[in-house]
Amino acid sequence: MDRAASVEQLASRRFDLLVVGGGIVGAGIAEAASAHGLAVALVDKGDFASATSSASSKLIHGGLRYLRLGDVGLVREAHHERRLLMNVVAPHLVRRLPFLFPLYEDGPYRPWFVQSGILLYSTMARARLNGLVPVERAHRMVPQLRGERLRSCAYYADAWTNDGRLTVANVRAAADAGATVLNYAEVVALRGGEGAEVSVDGRTISVRAKSVVNATGPWVDRLRRLEDPAAKPSMRLSKGVHVLVDGGEDWDSAITISHDKVRVSFAIPWEGMLLLGTTDTEHDGEPEDVRVTDEDVQQVLAEASVAVDGIGPPRATFCGLRVLPGGDGQTANARRETVYSTGPSGMVSVAGGKLTTYRRIALDALDHLGVRGLSKKPRPLPGATGLDRIDWPFELDAPTRAHLLHLYGSLAPDVLAPATDNPSLLEPLVAGRPDVRAQDVYARTHEWAVNDEDVLRRRTTGWLAGSRTPA
Ligand SMILES: Cc1cc2nc3c(=O)[nH]c(=O)nc-3n(C[C@H](O)[C@H](O)[C@H](O)COP(=O)(O)OP(=O)(O)OC[C@H]3O[C@@H](n4cnc5c(N)ncnc54)[C@H](O)[C@@H]3O)c2cc1C
Repeated sequence: MDRAASVEQLASRRFDLLVVGGGIVGAGIAEAASAHGLAVALVDKGDFASATSSASSKLIHGGLRYLRLGDVGLVREAHHERRLLMNVVAPHLVRRLPFLFPLYEDGPYRPWFVQSGILLYSTMARARLNGLVPVERAHRMVPQLRGERLRSCAYYADAWTNDGRLTVANVRAAADAGATVLNYAEVVALRGGEGAEVSVDGRTISVRAKSVVNATGPWVDRLRRLEDPAAKPSMRLSKGVHVLVDGGEDWDSAITISHDKVRVSFAIPWEGMLLLGTTDTEHDGEPEDVRVTDEDVQQVLAEASVAVDGIGPPRATFCGLRVLPGGDGQTANARRETVYSTGPSGMVSVAGGKLTTYRRIALDALDHLGVRGLSKKPRPLPGATGLDRIDWPFELDAPTRAHLLHLYGSLAPDVLAPATDNPSLLEPLVAGRPDVRAQDVYARTHEWAVNDEDVLRRRTTGWLAGSRTPA
């Protein structure tokens, strides 16, 4: 459906549920609500996944550090969700990744402590992969691993994803199930339990809805104040910065680097590059004012160099904001739980949580809205089935084929279809990346991309080439 038709539907339909915010939480709620037969509208003031949900560490994980914080329930639930995402919901987008946890002589932990922690973690993950890896084997797995004062490495498995595409896949699933979805559409006022005023393309439209859910991530309190100007702050924000450098192609494993008794950072082979990070510092300002500073980049590089040798210059950086329950103390120690609240006109606000557990958060949010008979059964996202019997319309080189399969699953042939009449669409989108120009067309016709940034950053991996303009 084109943009004008979606605007028209937003203005004319009467919805059961208006979801405000198209990050992974809002997109997941829209998907689940549509699958349960609700008439759903989903709006985002920017692009879908343009905030936190494309700025994560890209891990679908139980979270080893949450075990250290005593969040056993969260770890168990996250492991369960990881298995479902990898096996049913999005096997093309969520892939297994081994992790080395280097144990240095001067590190913060005794080896037996890490080993027993990882044994417990892997038992909860129902994974057989755990234990100690000798230094020589660890070097074969990660050639850049720093060897000085290294005793051995602990070993475990989690998974990685492309967070932006996982979010867009949920938006697509919601739309396929009948939801009206629109990006660049901002809720500017609430209608006292009857919907909201939405600013879109220079006009303000009234969207009628029986219920509203606030899934605006770092903006959650701003929307709460639209409902109740006296609403007290419910959370605090913590900035996390990542740096991308060349490398990672010859790594068979990611690295978990411990810095003190709680904080770890990661070096992750991701989309043909090496992803380093992240920081964890309190952010006092408005969400849109968050920036990567030189100090942040220096901190990420210095922390990565504890376990990685020969790190190249930064190619790209990005930052996002964690939403943490209010309270005192260091943000690194704060619990990563999800908080639900219901305002005076019935709007349910969802704050915090993890990318990994988005499906559970979506079901809990619907439960708070009073939706009954919810099914916990995992539903495959568009492109997630038939991965072993894809009929490719063209001969493609192996890296391009693997890349398209990863991003689109069994929808990859649909992405390539327009190239039958226009073979130039098989040319690279940007030099040095496996993305092709057909993806640009698909992003704009099937995935609500409005501008180049939407295409390059959140529908393809073109931005990793350091270029902002499609070829
Ligand atoms: C640095 C960092 C690393 C992380 N790493 C991981 C990880 O590896 N694994 C993991 O599981 N989790 C991770 N997380 C957590 C995870 O990324 C978040 O839990 C998740 O992305 C939050 O999604 P969300 O939909 O709540 O928020 P967001 O993605 O921020 O979405 C909120 C949306 O609301 C929209 N919005 C705001 N106001 C309005 C309005 N008035 N009208 C319309 N739309 C509006 C915004 O434009 C935005 O798109 C990480 C988080 C950070 C910050």
